[in-house]
Amino acid sequence: MRESWQERFAETPDVLKSAGRERTLVPVRDFAVGGREFVMMAGPCSVETEAQVMATAEHVRRAGARILRGGAFKPRSSPYSFQGHGLEGLKLLARARAATGLAVVTEVMSEDDVPLVAEYADILQIGSRNMENYALLEAAAKSGRPILLKRGMVATIADLMRSAQVVLEFGNPNVILCERGIRSFETALRNTFDVAAIALLKQISHLPVIADPSHAAGTSELVPALARIGVAAGADGLLVEVHPEPEKAWSDGEQSLNFAQFDGMMQGLEPLAAVMGRTMMAAEPVLEAVG
Ligand code: PEP
Ligand code: MN
Repeated sequence: MRESWQERFAETPDVLKSAGRERTLVPVRDFAVGGREFVMMAGPCSVETEAQVMATAEHVRRAGARILRGGAFKPRSSPYSFQGHGLEGLKLLARARAATGLAVVTEVMSEDDVPLVAEYADILQIGSRNMENYALLEAAAKSGRPILLKRGMVATIADLMRSAQVVLEFGNPNVILCERGIRSFETALRNTFDVAAIALLKQISHLPVIADPSHAAGTSELVPALARIGVAAGADGLLVEVHPEPEKAWSDGEQSLNFAQFDGMMQGLEPLAAVMGRTMMAAEPVLEAVG
């Protein structure tokens, strides 16, 4: 007889579903990730300028996003690439949140930066390159902020679950798992989108699972299709890169959607979400200034 998932993943018991623990709702400001409502997280790869962040935040909010993404501390493959604006970037994200009501998710790369990033962000993103940085996982867990844990590019599903277990062990129950594509022998696209990981994690874990079709595809042309596949695999939300002028982006421009492409993708997702028994989380109404 085949071993059960419980036996197979016995190392990470707290990540697995159990009696009375079927699903975790991760609270973010006035809503939750992991419930019936599908959550869209969108924004630029990097925070570049105030105009860029504000325009993107306004646009994605109107199109139905609830969470603004954007890197202030950027893990770049080359030391000569833009490394992010740091604190100034965090301040721009906070300004966009104040203007739009969107929650903010942003990456933290070092345990020394956790207190600062936790002061500005609603969700701390642990990037693929840091998925197994246990000192960072510990510091991030102890901040009390929800954690968006991205799968490492050469990490197995068990490895991802082990990192989630570390966060849970440090007393933080609010972990969102993210499939963003893995390395394989295939090189036509930036990464290989492991949709089976989404389906499996949804089946065996109580934690919310989201998909990042942008880093999986590496090219904007494929992002809407991979987004639909992510929804169909059972994801609880998506993390998508959007830029007002992708051709001028300081990072990941090739995979960033422009505003029209984002709108098109969103329209295509709604009926699919319904088929999956989900509703798209309604945009947060913004109170217009009076007088
Ligand atoms: C990002 O979200 O911009 C990013 C750097 O992602 P990853 O860690 O998945 O490469
Ligand atoms: Mn990116």
